[in-house]
Amino acid sequence: MFTPNATTQFEQAQGRAELSQAVHNIYLAAVNGSRKDWDLEAVGGALLTAGATFEDAQEVVDLVADARRLQALTPYIHQAYALAAVSLGPKVNGRLERALELALAGAVQLLGEDLATVRSSKGGDEVYTINGACNCPDAGTRAPQVNGRPACKHQLAVWLYRKADSLMCEALTWEG
Ligand SMILES: [Zn+2]
Repeated sequence: MFTPNATTQFEQAQGRAELSQAVHNIYLAAVNGSRKDWDLEAVGGALLTAGATFEDAQEVVDLVADARRLQALTPYIHQAYALAAVSLGPKVNGRLERALELALAGAVQLLGEDLATVRSSKGGDEVYTINGACNCPDAGTRAPQVNGRPACKHQLAVWLYRKADSLMCEALTWEG
């Protein structure tokens, strides 16, 4: 039985669900679908029109920018992986494949010349910081040394991501 107050809450909840569905649809259209050609300002405008707050719209616009960047980088991440597989081979014992998965999943964030974070592959909020070396247990124990650093999957993922980034810049330079 709905009391008037509960009915209002129910209607508000419905409204929010519809809004979050609309926001989700705009995100998908801007990244994968019919609105891939929209610039970020147009994405923001559509979100505000759908009823999102300015803060929420800004957050989704940032997510769209990240997703588009990762899409553009994806072929170069594969190229970087192929290069690394030749030079590292079995030395890193399966870690390179896991690093590829992390890089493709958008887990890597470059923060500076020698500073990056990698989201844990186990999901959740765990983030490893690679500042010189990674602070994960593998880096501190078993990981083999590459370029004078323990090559855990997080460190390898950062190297793949940086290499992909420079391959993409080179390609764009040649095209331009
Ligand atoms: Zn690590």
